[in-house]
Amino acid sequence: MQGFYWDVPGGGNWYNTMKANARGLRYMAGGVGIDRIWFPPVSKAEGGGYSMGYNPYDYYDLGQYDQKGTVETRFGSQQELKAAIAEFSRYGIVSMADIVLNHRAGAERQEANPRVGGATWTDFSSVASGRMAWHWDAFHPNSYCSWDNGTFGGALDVCHHAGPAYNDFKDWLNWLKDPGNAGFTGGWRYDYVKGYAPWVNKDMNAATGGMMGIGEYWDRDVDALNKWAVESGSSVFDFPLYYTMRDILNDASGGGWLPDLMDPRKSFAAKWDARAVTFVANHDTDEIHADKMLAYAFILTYKGYPCLFWKDYFDYALAEGGGAGTGEGNGIKKLVWCREQLAAGGPNIQILKSDDGDWISYGAYGYSGGSPGYIVVMNDSPSSWKGGWVTTGNPYLKNRKLKAYAWSSARSGYNSRPEAQYCDGAGNVQVWAPPRGYAVYSVEGF
Ligand code: ZN
Ligand code: CA
Repeated sequence: MQGFYWDVPGGGNWYNTMKANARGLRYMAGGVGIDRIWFPPVSKAEGGGYSMGYNPYDYYDLGQYDQKGTVETRFGSQQELKAAIAEFSRYGIVSMADIVLNHRAGAERQEANPRVGGATWTDFSSVASGRMAWHWDAFHPNSYCSWDNGTFGGALDVCHHAGPAYNDFKDWLNWLKDPGNAGFTGGWRYDYVKGYAPWVNKDMNAATGGMMGIGEYWDRDVDALNKWAVESGSSVFDFPLYYTMRDILNDASGGGWLPDLMDPRKSFAAKWDARAVTFVANHDTDEIHADKMLAYAFILTYKGYPCLFWKDYFDYALAEGGGAGTGEGNGIKKLVWCREQLAAGGPNIQILKSDDGDWISYGAYGYSGGSPGYIVVMNDSPSSWKGGWVTTGNPYLKNRKLKAYAWSSARSGYNSRPEAQYCDGAGNVQVWAPPRGYAVYSVEGF
């Protein structure tokens, strides 16, 4: 789960809010829940207590030094951060840090810059922590190189080729890993990775003991994501799938082509699931306005590593379904239960129906009688139930009565449990979903 959204309440209480929800996130439904939580950038930033952290100033100030107008960051103190991470850890949830390697901001002194030939705001020697007290040679242009892949607004662009940044970042990440300082053992979410070369991420993962890295490579092109994932040795947020879901679901007429969700040219999860982190919204972009639960149903039952968005789960109440789609069987919690209970170990997907724009079906193979897999049907038609016969190869579903464990429709009068269906010995079964809805079927009896 992404444990924040843009402009979470200020005043230094956000880590406490996260901490207070740790237990509930671990035990969402039937003993299952999230396994990783993504924190906002922890370092004191330009803008102090008002900043969301993406313009870092003093990397080692996690809310324990009085500078930039405040001791605590927008989210709290270092002690509160450590306590929140420890609480998640207590429930088996690892914590992931948001890492900004591309740029730095907020220098309080100018200095002579021989490369540029004037004075620049590149003197960080006054940071209260005294660490990573960089000068002009840490940024582009310096004596070694002039530029890299990209810059972020007017912020100073960090050089990883020469100067102190490369080694200092390695030390800082290892410092963040230590529970005595923070305790980020769940890896790194890398901000704006288009701004620098992918070997930087690869090296940072390796230098911190093979930590998981997830890059924000904001692009719709699956081939570009694939190239970055290879070169960085990291996972990547599935922006192609995000945009594909947005375009289909925001067409309330149902004119979208649902099989696009499983097309490896339009979804990175369909292309390389082991490296895809799927999501429905995040702190920067939240554009699926219609029937968002279909998007959650998809990412939570399909391939890839799904990431829930805090605001959706809590503020928009999608944990239980939200609005007219709230009730038994609805919501994110129930879908998480399906994934974790019925496809324990991760869904191994077989596509069952992909030639109709209004409805698709796919199955997750089972692993045992205790985790038998499931069949999903999704429907983007605005007015009709959709479904029909499909044939599964999953042996745990054959000769069994299948019932819908999770379903939804936000359409008035349609949000009721689809009827149970019999799957014959050859794997033939009918599956149905309500308009602008979905259903997840599995063996009766859990
Ligand atoms: Zn450089
Ligand atoms: Ca850059």
